[in-house]
Amino acid sequence: MATVKILGAAQEVTGSCHLVESPVLGKVLLDCGMHQGANSIKRLGKEHFAFEPHDIDAVVLSHAHLDHSGLLPKLVSLGFQGPIYCADATADLLKIMLLDSVNIYLGDLERENRKRLRKGNAPLEPEYSEDDVYKTLLLCVTKDYSESFNLSDHARCTFFDAGHILGSAIVQIQITEKGSTKTLVFSGDLGNKNAVLMKDPSYLQQADIVLMEGTYGDRNHRPIEDTVQQLREILKEAETRRGNIMIPAFAVGRTQEILFYLGQLHREGILQNWQVILDSPMAIEVTKIYDSWFSSLDQKDINQATPNALSIIKDFIPSLFLSVTPENSMAINKIASGALIIAGSGMCNGGRIKHHLKNRLWDSRNTVIFCGFQAMGTLGRLLVDGKKMVKIFNDSIAVKANIETLGGFSAHADQKALVEWISHFSTSPKLVLVHGDGEALDKLSHALWEEKGISTIIATRGECIAF
Ligand SMILES: [Zn+2]
Repeated sequence: MATVKILGAAQEVTGSCHLVESPVLGKVLLDCGMHQGANSIKRLGKEHFAFEPHDIDAVVLSHAHLDHSGLLPKLVSLGFQGPIYCADATADLLKIMLLDSVNIYLGDLERENRKRLRKGNAPLEPEYSEDDVYKTLLLCVTKDYSESFNLSDHARCTFFDAGHILGSAIVQIQITEKGSTKTLVFSGDLGNKNAVLMKDPSYLQQADIVLMEGTYGDRNHRPIEDTVQQLREILKEAETRRGNIMIPAFAVGRTQEILFYLGQLHREGILQNWQVILDSPMAIEVTKIYDSWFSSLDQKDINQATPNALSIIKDFIPSLFLSVTPENSMAINKIASGALIIAGSGMCNGGRIKHHLKNRLWDSRNTVIFCGFQAMGTLGRLLVDGKKMVKIFNDSIAVKANIETLGGFSAHADQKALVEWISHFSTSPKLVLVHGDGEALDKLSHALWEEKGISTIIATRGECIAF
């Protein structure tokens, strides 16, 4: 008998982590994700493993996002030494993601420790170091999609394209015990079929148990054409005001998607009076990795918008300026009008976008375009909620710029697509819903029952399910 224990992403959207166990498999961890929100020190201090890291035989990683991968260096620092299986491109992205994450964490820790020392308190020891990140990267064993490999003498694993971000995988594990084979499928994060650059998520037919994400289990996305039309109109209005545009965007996925749509508008002639600037060293690095895997992206989408393109950086917007150094970034401040600045972070709680917002929010000619979810407590959320005054680097800044929200971008399947994806299984698997707020999973569970007669388990943290 095999079991899967749900250790994270249980009625929540972060901290993905599940432990699969059987006598012939050993102990295999699916993802080792970090919880997100709050400050990094409080957050990491609360992350405790419900197992002994050195007892884990292997990790199977669905994709590079930190809510799926962020605790791998901590796992390694506490004694895990086994292989970390992931798709090829995931290992490339993982290096950037984990190094960025540890640098932010160590920077926060240094500031916190200065405060603690001033109060006469002992400094906090880091939970893990940059060295642990490099050790983690050395443990990565990469596999192609559809390439079946052994987890043990009696268990095999295969990745299928999840279409969510570069390298994202649906994980299939087959365990053979006493002559019978049991199959577990873990959806990872399933992509949005209407999103560009990524291929559609693969459909699988056979499983005894499926762990399926339900981030957007309670809603259906707006058609992407409406969103692109909205972007056209925002650009035209911004041009008449002779202002500048700031687009906060996450480095992985959203930045490349925005470059795709801006490339399309460039070909329509709409961008001729704009200088598009990618002002994020991390997003530039990530886009270069997307370029190195360019042939694995969805060529159908790319050819429709930019025929014969071979590179996001060189071919989507030929005049794209890559702002790498701090001097490059500061020079952008001198541009009076016509700058379209894409910078991280996506929720404005860090990164270069904060400097641009500080410099330009007070000017009514300028425009900020949000194109991703803004969590409570972030600067992005305050702006989307219409706050007229915000604090940035301890200065009060009047918000006079136009704040726009593009709602149609999503890297996740919506309710309709999730119902469709699970309907492809012909074996009526036990269905466990993970990676979604309780309400979203409830609505998804209801829709699955009403439309398809499929019953579900909404997992709670620590729940152990046999299959
Ligand atoms: Zn993800």
